[in-house]
Amino acid sequence: MRSLFISDLHLDEQRPAISRAFFHFIEHQAKAADALYILGDFFESWIGDDDSSELIEQVKTALSALRPSGCQLYLMHGNRDFLIGEQFCQDVSATLLSDPTVIQLAGENTLLMHGDSLCTGDQEYLAFRQMARSAQWQQQILSKSLAERRALAKQMRMASSEANSNKAEDIMDVTPEEVLKVMTEHRCQRLIHGHTHRPARHAITVNGQNAERIVLGDWHQQGWQLECDGQHLSLDAFDIR
Ligand code: MN
Repeated sequence: MRSLFISDLHLDEQRPAISRAFFHFIEHQAKAADALYILGDFFESWIGDDDSSELIEQVKTALSALRPSGCQLYLMHGNRDFLIGEQFCQDVSATLLSDPTVIQLAGENTLLMHGDSLCTGDQEYLAFRQMARSAQWQQQILSKSLAERRALAKQMRMASSEANSNKAEDIMDVTPEEVLKVMTEHRCQRLIHGHTHRPARHAITVNGQNAERIVLGDWHQQGWQLECDGQHLSLDAFDIR
């Protein structure tokens, strides 16, 4: 059983090299695997499953080829693409995972998260997150026209990058106490998440026992993947052509 984990590709028409790297990854890595987990911020933004662009259509075509190759696809929302809905998942034969989700990986209960909810130092963002994940807010947004939603998404991205430039470095990272809390709550000695763009494998202690927090990398200067062959895990960067 070979599983692959990626996150934070931030696919965007403005960055065609990342999309090309992703299509290459699907063709040469994912198709040969048994499972691909995309743990959020797959897209730079998502304004609804009714949006279609050349990039979205290309991504749908690439992802749809996984199931016939024997690779199961799992998607989790990130803070950028939390409006990905059932329709998109159906179109690409993906299973939408809730955040967090526990899976069995190499004989260990493993917690999968995007990671934004672990950054509890950023109260302002957490308040927004709670609002934006409510069905009422989402219905209100999705009832707007595509053009209105596109303008709104652009406005929100600008406001967020301005707010983040004023935030201290450490509130943009996970809160260690929150990590221990969720891992204990879900009885997991391993956590895999993205979001912070700080790829690393951290040895930690949970409930007095050795545990691990694995942070996936973003696809910017290079691509990142975590691979599990059923026994061993390996976090690797690769060139983006
Ligand atoms: Mn994120």
